[in-house]
Amino acid sequence: MADESIASPVHAAILERFQPASRGPWVDIPDTEWNDWRWHMRNSLTTLEDLARVIEISEDESAGAEGGRDAFKIGITPYYAALMDRMDPGCPVRLQATPRTAELHADSCDVEDPLAEERDMPVRGITHRYPDRVLFYVTHDCAMFCRHCTRKRKVANPATAANEAQIQEGIEYIRRTPAVRDVIVSGGDPLTWGDDRLAALLAQLRDIPHVEIIRIGTRTPVTLPQRITPDLVSIIRRFQPVFVNTHFNHPKETTREAFEACGRLADAGVPVGNQMVLLRGINDDAQTVMELNHRLLMMRVKPYYIFQCDPTRGNSHLRTTVARGLEVMEGLRGWTSGMAVPYYVIDAPGGGGKVPLLPSYVKYRDSSKIVVRNYRGTEHTYWEPET
Ligand SMILES: *Cc1c(COP(=O)(O)O)cnc(C)c1O
Ligand code: SF4
Repeated sequence: MADESIASPVHAAILERFQPASRGPWVDIPDTEWNDWRWHMRNSLTTLEDLARVIEISEDESAGAEGGRDAFKIGITPYYAALMDRMDPGCPVRLQATPRTAELHADSCDVEDPLAEERDMPVRGITHRYPDRVLFYVTHDCAMFCRHCTRKRKVANPATAANEAQIQEGIEYIRRTPAVRDVIVSGGDPLTWGDDRLAALLAQLRDIPHVEIIRIGTRTPVTLPQRITPDLVSIIRRFQPVFVNTHFNHPKETTREAFEACGRLADAGVPVGNQMVLLRGINDDAQTVMELNHRLLMMRVKPYYIFQCDPTRGNSHLRTTVARGLEVMEGLRGWTSGMAVPYYVIDAPGGGGKVPLLPSYVKYRDSSKIVVRNYRGTEHTYWEPET
């Protein structure tokens, strides 16, 4: 077996751009605990009293937590909590993690299941919407409960979690459906599972001949990078090709710990992609997104998607306009590496699936020619072949 302990060397000039995260009030915790993902899960912040150790809680946060007590749980790893600004409630990390009163408000279009994920379910826990791939929800637990989560209706609610029988039904569905060549293991966050359970699931999926690729959707590289242990990575690589898609939303999240977690995956031959959600006041400007994407590329993470925020009930304060999203895209293409330019998509409400949005670069088109404008605004004509 190849030596899994050898990590690629990283040039000092790159590494020094990724500073170790602060430990906040946990400075005195021994490294063995701080580096143990289960310690973070056990010590997850779930109440206002917990939060008060890390931040000066604003009135809005406190009222949001009280009013939303039964709606969507608080859950923040100490690692992620220590990234929050103590004083500023508008901190981009804090906005993703702490409840606000605006969560109690619903826009008239807001719904619980905007993507109609429940409709396209041939069996519980599987959404089969596109011809050749399925979403497979294996848990409703996460290391951190993101305030903008699309699946609030289920996530963080243990009563709705998949049991082993349901997971087996999902695997059976994939086994008897040869069209499925791509399985996206999602949730919740599948990496809240222990290694053995995850290994067993991956082995069962890999055992299905028509399954070509497996994707794991996880936010742990962002909210709990300690989860990406050498043991986990050696499990994942046994079942390659496996892709990991994660969810960085802001440059503040790209710490040394996150850098190293993504590096371990990349070293093991696991391509890592990023699915950012466009969020008001967090990352809805081109400069922030460009900086994030540049940092992700240094981490060997490919920006894959920018999602327009879904109209899930309680998300309206974090949604921004499509115009802002198009401005972000306009500010990327041409101005920076194409590698740093993801697809901007709207997940069409009602189960329409992902639809790409692009600023309009076509000025005119007929059967003989197309007139395009580039990122600087100059116009150019391309003549179609004559026959
Ligand atoms: C997002 C999604 C997928 C995967 O889409 P890709 O564009 O292939 O990344 C598959 N199924 C469902 C239901 C989805 O929402
Ligand atoms: S990690 Fe994903 S599933 Fe979990 S709360 Fe965040 S957005 Fe929702």
